[in-house]
Amino acid sequence: MGDKVASLCALGLDLGGSGLKGGVVSSTGKLLKLKRMPSPVHAHPDRIAEALAALLRTLATEALAEGWQVVGAGVSSTLDVDPQSGCFLPPHFAHLQPWQGYPIAQDLQDALGLPVLVENDGPMCAWGEYLVGAGKGFDSLVMVTLGSGVGGGAILEGNRLANTLGRASYFGHLCIDLDGLECPCGRRGCWEMYVSATALEQRAAEVLASKQLSPRLGMNPTAQQIVAAAQAGDEFALQLLDELAGYLAIGLTDLANLFAPPLIVVGGGLSLAGELILAPARQQMDDLRLPILPEIALVASQLPFEAGLIGAALLALERYGGVHVRDNGST
Ligand SMILES: [Zn+2]
Repeated sequence: MGDKVASLCALGLDLGGSGLKGGVVSSTGKLLKLKRMPSPVHAHPDRIAEALAALLRTLATEALAEGWQVVGAGVSSTLDVDPQSGCFLPPHFAHLQPWQGYPIAQDLQDALGLPVLVENDGPMCAWGEYLVGAGKGFDSLVMVTLGSGVGGGAILEGNRLANTLGRASYFGHLCIDLDGLECPCGRRGCWEMYVSATALEQRAAEVLASKQLSPRLGMNPTAQQIVAAAQAGDEFALQLLDELAGYLAIGLTDLANLFAPPLIVVGGGLSLAGELILAPARQQMDDLRLPILPEIALVASQLPFEAGLIGAALLALERYGGVHVRDNGST
């Protein structure tokens, strides 16, 4: 790699529902800096554009001062976005209506004076994981993120699954039970109603309110508390995760049957449960999946919190700096 490429970097932003993160990513995919701030997604889009631009400017100034050349920025967005126009799509929730059509990419580009791309977070997590995380060495993978909802993306033979107008890879809305729980999308039995962090918390509260009590958990434990209790051997928490793993296996089997990927990466906050959910899911998938499929590895994310930000920055490095991180070796 030449000196010129070695000094290139891009900014990455993760626009999440509960937090905003910004970072600087080098041409080898290394996260050089990371800053967090509360997410203003519930405020008016003008305010978030300002907050994002301020964070990007700070990061760019610091990177330049350290001798890096910033080629542009990539934003990984939890709010649905049309990657081509860089505008937000109609949101699922009424209070986010002002976001519809807001030209976030153009706004940031004007504020920063550098090119900016904005993509949906599921595919960006998959891209980050593919390039510098658990996907290193694989040509294809499917990524599933278990957070407040369930998202993901697929990389097939090195290509990102075309995320047509941001309206693809909604893995969380795979239907696993026609008569199941009602989903905000209007259908019943969507996968994310069973395997997201939100679903885990609701299930815990429901069972705790009915009868079973756990010595380690209060009445409304968070997903993080449930995972920690399970890791400490709490029977109730372990049962909850085991139940979740069963539902996880159903959707993962569908994805395996659809894509036959050599690798499925599970990311998002719940992936910190690791083998507590992956081991039983792996076992059930072996029973459920089509026998003609090749061997499929099921692993936890190596970048559980930064995959989206890194993926978006690496896409910006490729698009605006001509940098292909897989050609550069890695971190
Ligand atoms: Zn749904």
